[in-house]
Amino acid sequence: MKALQYPHIGAAPVLTDVPEPQPGPGEVLLKVTAAGACHSDIALMSMTADQIVFPLPLTLGHEGVGTVAALGEGATGVQVGDSVAVYGPWGCGVCRNCAQGKENYCLRATREGIFPPGLGMPGAMAEYMIVDDTRHLVPIGNLDPVTTAPLTDAGLTPYHAIKLSVPKLVAGSTAVVIGSGGLGHVAIQLLRAMTAAHVVALDVSEEKLELARSVGAHEALPSDAKAADRIRDLTRGEGAAVVLDFVGAPPTTAIAGKSVSVEGDITIVGIGGGSLPVGFGTLPYETTVCSPYWGSRVELEEVLQFAHQGVLDIHVQRFSLDEAPRAYELLHDGRINGRAVIAP
Ligand code: NAD
Ligand code: ZN
Ligand code: ZN
Repeated sequence: MKALQYPHIGAAPVLTDVPEPQPGPGEVLLKVTAAGACHSDIALMSMTADQIVFPLPLTLGHEGVGTVAALGEGATGVQVGDSVAVYGPWGCGVCRNCAQGKENYCLRATREGIFPPGLGMPGAMAEYMIVDDTRHLVPIGNLDPVTTAPLTDAGLTPYHAIKLSVPKLVAGSTAVVIGSGGLGHVAIQLLRAMTAAHVVALDVSEEKLELARSVGAHEALPSDAKAADRIRDLTRGEGAAVVLDFVGAPPTTAIAGKSVSVEGDITIVGIGGGSLPVGFGTLPYETTVCSPYWGSRVELEEVLQFAHQGVLDIHVQRFSLDEAPRAYELLHDGRINGRAVIAP
């Protein structure tokens, strides 16, 4: 079968012929119907040999939707033919975090060498993929696989991040979304659906600011040296109750620090190497700074409920598996508006 693989350090992703996998005991074989391309894949393909903790080549794709094609011995809970979304942050399933569905914070995954599909295990950018356990599958019914695949990360990650701050997003408050890309354009919609906050989006691209407005941002502003002052002006000098940074680079974490209010939250989701000093006098009083990772299994079900209710408008650019290397070139160059989705 065809698979899009990252073959070795420094290489571009390539379409490769690999054996079709067979499901072992408890595993599930999916015929992939859609796989999203995340900016974290670009980050992964920029890592040095000692930063990569799993073997290459790696089949990419940690946002997957597929149809159950076969069940391994003893696998129960789904039927052949079911359309399912893959919960990506696989954990051990039994530690106290996994027991609460928070497999994204599994206490044993690192030590036991458990990796998500596409981030260590063979991922969804292939004709077929193996899912290790039916607990990592959520049936999606008649949802469109192409617009649903991004929800498994570009939806789940902002949803989890926003949930942490919901009590602060009362009427009259402001939430800032930095980076209106794959994750950010879903974050704007989730903020509108889940909170009463005024939503201000920042980006460096006019096309993405336009996308931000079209999916519900009240304001969309250039992410530049004046951005923090403009946010202060828009908030009567108070600052934003919550700043969600989907870039996480030095210029954006600096904007976050300058635009947050007292008792505000700065949530750094992007992995762009930015950081913030914490200590008395460096940030407004009682600011909370955190860097969450992905989300829990039940939160994926919650995001999918929003999709079933029809409140999400996921912008996708669709590519075939043969065109997938091109999708990553465009993503690298900032030329994907919304999410690139590979539909084999
Ligand atoms: P994307 O490429 O789709 O979107 C990034 C957006 O940021 C683009 O619209 C781009 O124009 C904009 N941007 C770039 N520089 C900017 C700046 N200085 N100010 C404002 N906007 C700027 O990327 P994505 O797939 O949405 O991922 C976003 C980030 O989140 C990446 O760093 C990714 O690795 C990370 N990520 C983290 C998690 C997690 O669990 N923490 C999960 C998924 C993705
Ligand atoms: Zn991702
Ligand atoms: Zn665990």
